[in-house]
Amino acid sequence: MTNLTHWINGKHVEGTSGRFGDVYNPATGEVAAQVPLASTAELNAAVEAAKAAFPDWAATPPLTRARIMFKYKTLIEENADRLAALITAEHGKVLSDAGGSLTRGLEVVEFACGIPQLLKGEYTEQVGRGIDAWTTRQPVGVCAGITPFNFPAMVPMWMYPMAIACGNTFILKPSEKDPSCALLLAELATEAGLPDGVLNLVNGDKEAVDAILEHPDVPAISFVGSTPIAHYIYSTGAARGKRVQALGGAKNHMVVMPDADMEQAADALMGAAYGSAGERCMAISVAVAVGDAGEKLMELLKPKVEALKIGPGTDNEMDMGPLVTGAHLEKVKGYVDIGVEEGADLVVDGRDYSLQGYEEGFFIGGCLFDNVTTDMRIYKEEIFGPVLSVVRSDKFDDAVQMINDHEFGNGVSIFTRDGDAAREFTSRIQVGMVGVNVPIPVPMAFHSFGGWKSSLFGDIHMHGPEGVRFYTRQKAVTSRWPTGVRAGAEFTMPTMK
Ligand code: NAD
Repeated sequence: MTNLTHWINGKHVEGTSGRFGDVYNPATGEVAAQVPLASTAELNAAVEAAKAAFPDWAATPPLTRARIMFKYKTLIEENADRLAALITAEHGKVLSDAGGSLTRGLEVVEFACGIPQLLKGEYTEQVGRGIDAWTTRQPVGVCAGITPFNFPAMVPMWMYPMAIACGNTFILKPSEKDPSCALLLAELATEAGLPDGVLNLVNGDKEAVDAILEHPDVPAISFVGSTPIAHYIYSTGAARGKRVQALGGAKNHMVVMPDADMEQAADALMGAAYGSAGERCMAISVAVAVGDAGEKLMELLKPKVEALKIGPGTDNEMDMGPLVTGAHLEKVKGYVDIGVEEGADLVVDGRDYSLQGYEEGFFIGGCLFDNVTTDMRIYKEEIFGPVLSVVRSDKFDDAVQMINDHEFGNGVSIFTRDGDAAREFTSRIQVGMVGVNVPIPVPMAFHSFGGWKSSLFGDIHMHGPEGVRFYTRQKAVTSRWPTGVRAGAEFTMPTMK
């Protein structure tokens, strides 16, 4: 049994609260590690370290910060296998998938390497006679990030590389379900040359999160997790005058038009619905089959779902691994029960899936529902497991309306060969990230990531150009160096003469 630590001021720090959480190996169901759950005092100590490191780090030239990021990128590449193995060990996802998610996080580090260019402001000579004006962006101080279990490396890496490159110091509170990968990432940042106190990791649960929300020296909070908690973080943080970006849950639809390449659409749905056992915020959990697409799609999907290869994430031959915890497994199975009670057709039932040698693991087989309707809970609520609901829709317009009426608006996709339908769809759909013949339209690091409606509270998306805006505040300077005759006091609003 491993006893995990915090990472504060460039060192491992043991927990002192006396409270611990269990970290499981989801493939076997065994408790593999104990994670300390920080008290308010422990969180406050990390903020003190981050606050002390801030002035010098903020004054460090962006080019120097970028060079540390370059070194960090190399170290992550060198340790990629170790990092991916930690993700698989605690989250359960297949190794190749874990490696892919690490790469998507690494791309944010690569983007942050360009920080000298990204922080360049704007300059106007002669806004008035002999007067120049410019804007500059400065770091905000001690920033905090609170992250979910499903991407133990990538989601933290959406946040702290950008925050740090912008000159802030950072407190990361990763998910208590799978914190080890983030711990190693913090350690590697110090090895890359990041001064002590610039990146701190505090493990914990609600107590640590509430301490972040209440702390007067934390002016900016990034959150990713479920919608009720995202709303709580946003409303509590904003009420205390903090800037908050809080990304929440999702129910992502994929519209399949009758003219789509059905094989391609079915394969896309398989990867997007069942990859990572459906524990992705951009997973497709609803397929909307328009017109006669439904029959063809179901014919193709059923055998593919039945043939899913499910086993421990360490076996790269597998399509998906177990769910993260026993409690989550029960929740997902419970939703399948609800779907049956609500009258949806359960075409493939994975509830009784069991794997020899891994009977205590948190495994479930792929589940496929047909004839799901919009009044059902399995349609409205996020399940976050390998459960795909197929909804039939007569017309394209009805499909668009259905999606626009949904509470969530994270990602969406359309599969069609009709450019006009695709263009109309991308224009009218009320969702933050849209794919055309792309099932999981996750924006690259140099764009920004974020949903609409109950999938994001706040107005700034994550990483990319929006990340720079979130982690800096603008200062506008107007400057005159008077020469010659002094004009004396001016009492009217200055305007251009
Ligand atoms: P979660 O909301 O349970 O936990 C997220 C974080 O909040 C964790 O660090 C946790 O410790 C903390 N937390 C949990 N309960 C809390 C409480 N009562 N008070 C304060 N803090 C609390 O989410 P999860 O189960 O870890 O992750 C899955 C969820 O995250 C899904 O809903 C998924 O859609 C969402 N997600 C969204 C995105 C996105 O980009 N929109 C990305 C990844 C995951």
